[in-house]
Amino acid sequence: MLVVGAGGCGLPAALAAHDGGAQVAVVEKLERLAGNTALSTASIPAAGTRFQRAAGIDDDAARLAEDLLRKSGPHEMEALAHRLAAISAPLIEWLVDAAGVRLELISGYRHVGHRVPRLHAPPSHRGQDLLDDLERAVRARDIPIALAHPVGGLLTDDDGAVTGAVVTRGDAAPLRIGAAKVILATNGFAAAPDLVRRFCPDIAGAPYYGALGSTGDALLLGGALGAALANLGAYQAHASLAYPHGSLMTWTVIEKGGFVVNRAAQRFGDESAGYSAYGANVIAEGNVAFAIYDARIRDTVAQLQSDFAELVELGGARAADDAAALAAHHGLDGAALAETIARYDRAAAGGAPDEFGRRAFGLAPLQPPYVVTRIGAGLFHTQGGLKVDADGRVLRPDGAPIPNLFAGGGAAAGISGRRGGGGYVSGNGLLSALGLGWLAGRAAAAEVAEAR
Ligand SMILES: Cc1cc2nc3c(=O)[nH]c(=O)nc-3n(C[C@H](O)[C@H](O)[C@H](O)COP(=O)(O)OP(=O)(O)OC[C@H]3O[C@@H](n4cnc5c(N)ncnc54)[C@H](O)[C@@H]3O)c2cc1C
Repeated sequence: MLVVGAGGCGLPAALAAHDGGAQVAVVEKLERLAGNTALSTASIPAAGTRFQRAAGIDDDAARLAEDLLRKSGPHEMEALAHRLAAISAPLIEWLVDAAGVRLELISGYRHVGHRVPRLHAPPSHRGQDLLDDLERAVRARDIPIALAHPVGGLLTDDDGAVTGAVVTRGDAAPLRIGAAKVILATNGFAAAPDLVRRFCPDIAGAPYYGALGSTGDALLLGGALGAALANLGAYQAHASLAYPHGSLMTWTVIEKGGFVVNRAAQRFGDESAGYSAYGANVIAEGNVAFAIYDARIRDTVAQLQSDFAELVELGGARAADDAAALAAHHGLDGAALAETIARYDRAAAGGAPDEFGRRAFGLAPLQPPYVVTRIGAGLFHTQGGLKVDADGRVLRPDGAPIPNLFAGGGAAAGISGRRGGGGYVSGNGLLSALGLGWLAGRAAAAEVAEAR
């Protein structure tokens, strides 16, 4: 069996297939493992885990599915959202118990779309740790990973069933690899500007913060065999990349009570829509915005998230005793900012309805000293891709599977709605990657075993 792409989908797929009795190899386009999974903050949602129970959190798959669908609205992969919610707890426990991945429940904050704490992550919250642990588990099973092996085509028999893949490397002769099953785990198309312009025009031109390998290869490979595509207009953006640092200013700052203003020191929307949904708002403001919060929020979040603490260390969160001095850090109008803070604080204190309908204010009203971070929005990854069934089998437009072809993660159609960044719930990316990888690996191994 061949897994194409060594990321958050491909490595669990290889592990699951191997543990299901299949002989597996992984091919990776880049010269090292450097997909989106490594860049992520590694937060994976799961409902009903033993980690939640130990923390006294009551949760179940039905509630997770409800949360996912409330935010996404109707879309073409709703059955998959239910399936991923249903396997989320066993998935996390399998990752910890069978693959030795270090994960713990994030209990200090909930993040966008989740009604209870259910994100699980490595203690460091670093995707590199997640990927390292997965790679270690793959190596421990002697599953080969061939680096610098980009797959450029799929092999099929006369009936259209997939029989392997072709690796194409520069001038070298194409390498044909026969395989009983092929799992496409090549992520989405966010690193292909032409595809982004075509399918996600509202985010085209925004800075891209994901991995270089996400060039839409699954769309081309599956598309060439007549695969159906779904949810192509959906993506995950992030509204708060710190400028000029380029690192993430976690949206927890906003959830804990911060808000966002434009160059006129005015708010321009309901920030509780979430970091992905709010990305388009920030872009509409010329992609220059400022997060306004206070020292209590800064210190609370810095304790929870080490990457934010690093941003603070690097001078990315500038403080001042009053609104005028805060505004001066970035050349904003002091009087306008003072008025915006006062209006926001009135709403946070319940003295007036919020002008944008925001209802959750964390620790606000704000208290001096105030803090400001200049932010801009960027594209993280796309959420559309190959239409798959609940085990990752790639489907044709008539709903029939293309025999022997599976897909997961960003290569497959996601669960974040049909279009835009508003349907993305925190962790949808990795839930689809790890979850579909696990499911596809198991299903593909079972098919191989049945055929013996
Ligand atoms: C900054 C950032 C933070 C994020 N944080 C989170 C988070 O906390 N939680 C969450 O759920 N999601 C998060 N995401 C999204 C998440 O990273 C992705 O959804 C997820 O990693 C996708 O996994 P994948 O395996 O599909 O892709 P990847 O991890 O990108 O793996 C795909 C691999 O396939 C390889 N490949 C591509 N084409 C070929 C080919 N033709 N042949 C061979 N190999 C190929 C690539 O080089 C790559 O190594 C974040 C994204 C970013 C950018």
